Amino acid sequence: MKKADLHMHTTLSDGLLTPEEVVRWAYKKNIDTISITDHDSIDGISRAILESKKYDINVVPGIELSCFFQDHEIHILGYFIDYKSEKLNKFIKKLKESRKERNYKIIEKLNKMDIDISVKEVEMLSSEGVIGRPHIARVLIDKGIVDTVKGAFDIYLSKGKPAYVERYKVSVKDAIDLIHSIGGVAVFAHPGLINNSMILNNILQFKIDGLEVIHSKHNKDQVEELTNIAKHNNLIVTAGSDCHGYLDDGEPSLGNFFISAKDVELLKEKADFYKKML
Ligand code: AMP
Ligand code: ZN
Ligand code: FE
Ligand code: FE
Repeated sequence: MKKADLHMHTTLSDGLLTPEEVVRWAYKKNIDTISITDHDSIDGISRAILESKKYDINVVPGIELSCFFQDHEIHILGYFIDYKSEKLNKFIKKLKESRKERNYKIIEKLNKMDIDISVKEVEMLSSEGVIGRPHIARVLIDKGIVDTVKGAFDIYLSKGKPAYVERYKVSVKDAIDLIHSIGGVAVFAHPGLINNSMILNNILQFKIDGLEVIHSKHNKDQVEELTNIAKHNNLIVTAGSDCHGYLDDGEPSLGNFFISAKDVELLKEKADFYKKML
């Protein structure tokens, strides 16, 4: 079976692997189709596509948008998007500016707690990409202030913690509409992490096209339940490792969670439908 892993991050957001390294890992792990789904960024896509030609790997242009629904942060994946569209690029620029302002505010809050950390130190970790709390967490680890990324979130960076700062996000509905307007399909990322059927039911009322049923953090019961929900609601099932490049026994999780590459055709057909409507 040809395999497709449709969810991973690169150094252009908070991943540790470059787009080129991601493609080479896909090749090593026998994955035929990947999608680069960086947080609020499309900068890794063309680099991955260029590298993929050497290895005969298919790269689906993707993105993972951080959205809000009520009080919750929801991630929506867009696939087969026109990633060069002016509309998308304007939107991403706005998000980047908002992140930059927010990073300054987070650092300021940490400084007020007598933690010696600067924006420059954080930006040095990712000269090219989308900078956010995971990068701040890594600096805090390097300085011995916390032991793990999770620790940094639990003590300082999560909502409700002392260095938390809100940032600009779109609503789930607007994110889905944006993705359709640039010829892409919209998939609800890792619904099992939200694990809230009320929210899931609400999101199903929007024009979502698919559910990320198979995900590195979903257990067997969740996969089964989400498979049934997808079937009942006529949604496309997708799969993703959500690989951030951390090594486990020397290998990243890339390719450990997958669907058949044939199923990617369903996403493509639906995207073609939206493209025709433009
Ligand atoms: P940001 O984009 O700056 O809001 O940071 C969000 C990212 O931080 C998520 O995509 C996760 O990769 C990571 N993250 C969020 N919460 C946690 C947590 N509790 N532990 C570890 N990583 C987290
Ligand atoms: Zn991430
Ligand atoms: Fe996510
Ligand atoms: Fe992700």
